[in-house]
Amino acid sequence: MKKLCIVALLAGSSLLGHAQKTFLHCGQLVDVKAGKILTSMTIIVDGKTISDVRNGYVQPTPTDKLIDLKNRTVMPGLIDMHVHLEGETKKGGAADRFIQNPADIAFESLNYAKRTLLTGFTTVRDLGGSGVNIALRNAIAKGQVAGPRIFTSGKSIATTGGHADPTNGFRKDLMGDPGPREGVINGSADAYQAVRQRYKEGSDCIKITATGGVLSQAKDGSNAQFTEEEVKAIVGAAKDYGFKVAAHAHGAEGIKRAVRGGVNSIEHGTFLDDEGISLMKQYGTWLVPTITAGKSTADSAKIPGYYTDIVTPKALATGPQIQATFAKAFKAGVKIAFGTDAGVFAHGKNWMEFVYMHEAGMPVIEAIQSATVGAAELLGASEQLGSIEKGKLADIIAVEGDPVKDVKAMGRVSFVMKEGKVFKPE
Ligand SMILES: [Zn+2]
Repeated sequence: MKKLCIVALLAGSSLLGHAQKTFLHCGQLVDVKAGKILTSMTIIVDGKTISDVRNGYVQPTPTDKLIDLKNRTVMPGLIDMHVHLEGETKKGGAADRFIQNPADIAFESLNYAKRTLLTGFTTVRDLGGSGVNIALRNAIAKGQVAGPRIFTSGKSIATTGGHADPTNGFRKDLMGDPGPREGVINGSADAYQAVRQRYKEGSDCIKITATGGVLSQAKDGSNAQFTEEEVKAIVGAAKDYGFKVAAHAHGAEGIKRAVRGGVNSIEHGTFLDDEGISLMKQYGTWLVPTITAGKSTADSAKIPGYYTDIVTPKALATGPQIQATFAKAFKAGVKIAFGTDAGVFAHGKNWMEFVYMHEAGMPVIEAIQSATVGAAELLGASEQLGSIEKGKLADIIAVEGDPVKDVKAMGRVSFVMKEGKVFKPE
């Protein structure tokens, strides 16, 4: 026994005595905490984490690895707080739920996950699907498939007939009566059961649909669909399990009920009014804008037959409003976390949100902060994610050009490292 230990120790020392580190020479490095760009910096990565960040170009020893990013702008891996990796929009896609088995969804989602990662998003929050998103999270975490780190809500929680009631628009005999297990609640007791069911299934957070939504097969896209009491019950249950709560909400009344009910973020926030803005500031509620989703659903709605007849007018009315609301909320000082609703448009185009945020008056650096430090804070993962600092996970990307001078540089991701592993080499 003693002899074995010594042998193991010796073998360990020769291998680990000088474990290979990776030195990244960064021409420009976005310091997301200070909100400025540093020049000529070196990041040192050891295993999965960042072991140091130094001024100047520090030379590695011969056994270490050097990655030259001197002509690039380097920043923390991006975080999208609102995606749906289980699917992607297409003409007539409403029929998919009658055709696809979970395994079909799973195979499709692999492509979306990989595309998301290779365009610089090393972490996403998946806000609603069938539960395949939980299996996908696990497979990525185990390194079995390539994709961003996922924080998933599993199945969204709705009320009967509401946005995310899984049988909306079905023929009566197919509708059944989904309940808390399927993510449909009515009243506080159901709310508790639904949150506990998500815990049982392995969700990381909770998503509720506080108002109607654009893409559900139902008439109203913005009415309030939860009572304030129901929201409070969801939030109360969520706290027991360490879950944050994200509320999809378009209409002003539903937004206010969700904010007063204690949710952590409002998703979309389309018809947010002045009272809602001051409530969000008072409660410290984040806004996750999803401007890209608004614009792209409005565009898709102009293609005949793209959506069903009940969805088309909602997409035309709701989509174009989001950017203006975002501009107003940002100006008023509401906390913004980057999120796109990718899946409602093509995965991999998430970066367009930076363009729209900037267009609406947000400085590029602040938009990058909303997708890094800000998003990490909303996830409750600031200790490990969101900035390039000693001790944090080595989620590092690089883009061609200077995004501050040309925001479209965010679409030119040339290098992606996640947890110290290079997925997209320079
Ligand atoms: Zn969504």
